[in-house]
Amino acid sequence: TTAKIDLKQYIRNIPDFPKPGILFYDISTLMRNADAWQIAMGRLAAAVAPWAPDMLAAIESRGFLTAAPLASRLGCGLVMLRKPGKLPGETVSHSYDLEYGSDSLHIQSDAIQPGQRVVVMDDLLATGGTLVASVALLRKVGADVVGAATMIELTGLGGRGRLDVPVKTLVSYD
Ligand code: IMP
Repeated sequence: TTAKIDLKQYIRNIPDFPKPGILFYDISTLMRNADAWQIAMGRLAAAVAPWAPDMLAAIESRGFLTAAPLASRLGCGLVMLRKPGKLPGETVSHSYDLEYGSDSLHIQSDAIQPGQRVVVMDDLLATGGTLVASVALLRKVGADVVGAATMIELTGLGGRGRLDVPVKTLVSYD
């Protein structure tokens, strides 16, 4: 049985990336392992399925990696939330503050039908800033955001508490 497998053993921690003092949780080693990746996507599908989404919204770029196989498993659509200048056609954007400076995410204006049930996905939840901005962007285009899901949660940063939608994560670190 795979029920007891701890996915943490497949996630590598790399100190001082991308900057000195930052401990980076690297999912590359999880994805490289066929069994571990299969188990991770199965658990994520089980966590997200009860929300009955019409659409998954994937945050660039590691969110693409989890949302695409999940949309295929759940039989729902997939929409990309991207950095500026990447999406063709008319887009809607939302700007948000970072520790130093600001950034913005974009979505194609016609990506969501009003009232569609959308789950937003990324690889990791830290302060929650990225997911909070994504929820705001999705609401601008009429989405009913029913949840957020990531593989990893850094619980000490309080991200979950900044979100006004339910959150599902697979592994957590203090
Ligand atoms: P937040 O906005 O502070 O919650 O940060 C989450 C965003 O930063 C996500 O898009 C993650 O991909 C990225 N991120 C932050 N820390 C890490 C990490 O340790 N590993 C991988 N991605 C990270």
